[in-house]
Amino acid sequence: MEQAMVEKAQEKIQECRDPFGQGIPRDAVLRLLTNQHTQADRKRYYRCEWWRELRERALEAAGHFCRLCGRRPHLQVHHLPQGYKRMFRETLADLTVVCRHCHKGHHGH
Ligand SMILES: [Zn+2]
Ligand SMILES: [Zn+2]
Repeated sequence: MEQAMVEKAQEKIQECRDPFGQGIPRDAVLRLLTNQHTQADRKRYYRCEWWRELRERALEAAGHFCRLCGRRPHLQVHHLPQGYKRMFRETLADLTVVCRHCHKGHHGH
């Protein structure tokens, strides 16, 4: 079971920067890499150093404005649909920056 996941993740791991060195348990890293992540896995992910740096770069690239309404407060970095399949190796094209209000509307809750 783990072996199959490792094989599936192997190709992706090569494109990632140190996914196992982010303080996230190994099984969670494998789930994140193979798009089988749980909410708890994502919670951990959003605290790791790779994500925090990426998040900063996304905010800077957006000029610290919401891409939908152009307002500034409470910005959040959101994965575009393909972005969830690219955990640990996202580029800025896999993300967008939205304010809390627009983000809620986007997810419909
Ligand atoms: Zn907005
Ligand atoms: Zn989102």
